[in-house]
Amino acid sequence: MINPSLYSTKKTYRFPERSVHIYYGTSFKSLKDLLPSSDVFIITDNNVYQLYKELMDSFPMIVIDPGERSKQSVTIQTILDKMLELHLSKSVVVVGVGGGVISDIAGFVASIFKRGTRLVLVPTTILGMVDAALGGKNGIDVGIYKNMLGTIYQPECILYDYSFLDTLPVAEWVNGFAEIIKHGCIRDRILFEMLERFDLHTFQNDKSLMGELIERNVDLKMQIVTKDEMDKQDRQLLNFGHTVGHALENQHQIPHGHAVSIGIIAACTLSEKIAGLNFLEAQRIVKLLSAYSLPVDIETDYDVLYDGICMDKKRDGNFIQFVLIDKIGSAAAKRVPLEFLKANLKNMV
Ligand code: ADP
Ligand code: ZN
Repeated sequence: MINPSLYSTKKTYRFPERSVHIYYGTSFKSLKDLLPSSDVFIITDNNVYQLYKELMDSFPMIVIDPGERSKQSVTIQTILDKMLELHLSKSVVVVGVGGGVISDIAGFVASIFKRGTRLVLVPTTILGMVDAALGGKNGIDVGIYKNMLGTIYQPECILYDYSFLDTLPVAEWVNGFAEIIKHGCIRDRILFEMLERFDLHTFQNDKSLMGELIERNVDLKMQIVTKDEMDKQDRQLLNFGHTVGHALENQHQIPHGHAVSIGIIAACTLSEKIAGLNFLEAQRIVKLLSAYSLPVDIETDYDVLYDGICMDKKRDGNFIQFVLIDKIGSAAAKRVPLEFLKANLKNMV
């Protein structure tokens, strides 16, 4: 049980198997008080460790190399070996402190160590806070194929300590805003308009405004994933911009947020053609992505891109499940014939 004086707001979301408690306005320093009398094992990356050593040094922990390249089975093996070496029991609390790479790895490890341990996530990037730490999906890559192995495993709590954002490089802020803009496009016109009204600089310098933005995004994603934990219906909407985005990411080694931004533009162009999206609404989305320093086009090889799209998990024979919007804030998944996509790809990206 967590001491209520250690956070400013708590929200609970219920999944069939577990409730997830979200604590906003916590301080990482209170982790010991938050989890009294539990064995904690921290998983973090070396960038976060170097910046926040003194917060973590008193706990048993493992520090992994930063970046997507750590999302491999060899990292999982190294972590499990260390946990066994430390004689950690099934009652250990695995605590992932870092961005999306860390929540993927910590979630996966917690879900398999002794058939499942307790899990707490402490996201330290924008992308982690509004997306990766939420919904329980985790995964590691196999070769170039992203998230090929993984599970869906909910953390028991997620702690939001906004002071981590003080050290976050601007490129990582930009990356995270691609998912925030995505959320506005698929579900929340008011959020979209809030993003139009302010700019990145304002969000970076106003903690309370940023807190409000993060909490709105968390709620939006949690509403979707609690209704559809297993990704059969509405959860697919979160894939907006990701069908083309993932293919571009594999092809060009660009940051996830950049790939999603270009993927959103592609999905908007297709939405204008077959989902009734108005040209002016599409233009507002392009303008917003640019305003947050996200790219809106890329030079690419269309044949390679098309082949990449065909590898998508949402492909179904000669069709692909594509998330489209009919206006800002309203999305639906549509089965699009691959032939049609191939013929239009040059106009989309
Ligand atoms: P993402 O959250 O974008 O999925 P990562 O987990 O790879 O991706 O994090 C992005 C980068 O930011 C990594 O290099 C990571 O070490 C670094 N990082 C994470 N949190 C912080 C922070 N609070 N301050 C500075 N750098 C951070
Ligand atoms: Zn994404």
